[in-house]
Amino acid sequence: MTDFDCDVLVVGGGPGGYTAAFRAADLGKKVILVEKRGNLGGVCLNVGCIPSKALLHVAEIINSAKEADSVGVEFNKPKIDLDKVRDFKSSVVNKLTCGLSCLADQRGVDVIYGSATFKTDHSIVVDDKEISFENCIIAAGSSVAQIPGIPYDDERVWSSSDALKLSEIPKRLLIIGGGIIGLEMATVYSALGSKVTIVEYMPQIVPVADKDLVMVLQKKLKASCDIYTKTKVTEVVAESDKLIAKLEGKKAPESAEFDAVLVAVGRRPNGKLLGLENTSVNVDDAGFIAANSQLCTNCPNIFAVGDIVGQPMLAHKAVHEGKVAAEVICGHDVSFNSSAIPSVAYTDPELAWVGLTEKEAKEQGIDFEKANFPWAASGRALSSEVANGKTKTLFDKSTGKLIGVGVVGKNAGELISIAALAISKEMTGEEIAKTVFPHPTLGETIGFAAELFDGSITDIMNPKV
Ligand code: FAD
Ligand code: NAD
Repeated sequence: MTDFDCDVLVVGGGPGGYTAAFRAADLGKKVILVEKRGNLGGVCLNVGCIPSKALLHVAEIINSAKEADSVGVEFNKPKIDLDKVRDFKSSVVNKLTCGLSCLADQRGVDVIYGSATFKTDHSIVVDDKEISFENCIIAAGSSVAQIPGIPYDDERVWSSSDALKLSEIPKRLLIIGGGIIGLEMATVYSALGSKVTIVEYMPQIVPVADKDLVMVLQKKLKASCDIYTKTKVTEVVAESDKLIAKLEGKKAPESAEFDAVLVAVGRRPNGKLLGLENTSVNVDDAGFIAANSQLCTNCPNIFAVGDIVGQPMLAHKAVHEGKVAAEVICGHDVSFNSSAIPSVAYTDPELAWVGLTEKEAKEQGIDFEKANFPWAASGRALSSEVANGKTKTLFDKSTGKLIGVGVVGKNAGELISIAALAISKEMTGEEIAKTVFPHPTLGETIGFAAELFDGSITDIMNPKV
């Protein structure tokens, strides 16, 4: 090291930032990590992935008990102790965030709590103190996006962070945005007893996913929620005892009354909030920082990872980018491969996909073959009462390689890991068909779909014979 305060300075202690900091420290660098929140973990641990999954776990218990009468087991209506549910959620978050701060100590990463502002290409300022660095990794994440016409000052208007606080269970909840946050929160609040209405302005909920898979989820959601697609909320008016939403859409009422409104219309990158105008780093109008496959920005000693470099805004993408950035700084010849990043909506049923969606494969003009395995033919799905699921696989016709998988159904988020591994290892349909999957499992449906493509299926009639 020369005259700098550290070899690597990381801005942001979320999944991208703490991973980058820990990896750089493990590779022998002197690392400073600056985080403006009072603890590590970023959005994911504090107000994102983890608290939402804790609440979804509670929702799953409630839903399983409710649905158990179909197999001859009846439970009484659940009594919900909101304080206890909140304590459960907070205890999970605290365990993980405290764990991270121990890991930082053990690695000798110097964590500074405060807000970083860039001063030059080699320095930042935190609380009037200037810190210089040889290399920097920006992992400052994203913030909630807003739309006009909403009275955000009213405490009944929620962001995802507010929804996760679980301050109350509103009788009537409007969710603006049928993306992953909107649907996960719809799953939580409808299980807890709210009457949920989802308004999505695109023609389908989760617009990035394939329609045939989304429709399975939509059908189940519709049993407990009202869903209006191709619909806009133009205004929300706050009155003392209600919120009145004005809607614009063919099938939607012109206005409707609610007790709380969750705005879940996406997130915007924090690139414009860091003083990067004092550096040579390019930030686009939306606030994204462009980085190459080694996560290096246009400024050779400044790297950027996670939500701030672009879609998909997912924790596991941030983690892997963080590792690559740290390793590149340490002289490793590595780069980030974005072809097999799984996406999961932890709804009921779950929806997951990896590689190309069918929509993308068509748009890219790829000559592919599709093999769908319906869960109605899976012994495990039938015995677990989840036969509404579906596993879809896409194979490149010329190479036989798996290029995309979509799953809707129970534990789709776990199953998709098999597909992520197969796609990243460039496995062919034949290789997957010859892999022995345990029986009876839902994971088997990926093997069965490959057998369908391979022409070797025996569990259902073989269309290739
Ligand atoms: P962040 O986690 O946003 O961390 C950035 C950190 O930088 C923050 O802690 C912030 O305080 C800090 N920071 C910002 N500016 C400064 C500054 N000037 N100085 C110092 N520190 C600064 N993803 C999944 O993969 N799975 C999920 O199940 C999932 N669920 C989600 C649920 C919700 C409700 C939300 C909102 C998001 C969810 N996500 C999920 C997305 C996931 O949380 C993000 O993709 C992930 O946190 C991005 O990591 P990051 O490190 O890029 O940024
Ligand atoms: P999103 O982009 O996934 O969904 C937002 C939805 O709102 C879109 O479907 C969009 O068409 C719709 N929309 C936008 N403006 C609207 C308007 N004015 N009226 C009605 N609908 C409107 O964003 P999100 O759900 O807010 O999630 C934010 C980020 O967090 C995403 O990148 C997501 O990947 C990530 N996240 C991931 C998980 C997970 O991995 N399980 C969970 C939650 C969040």
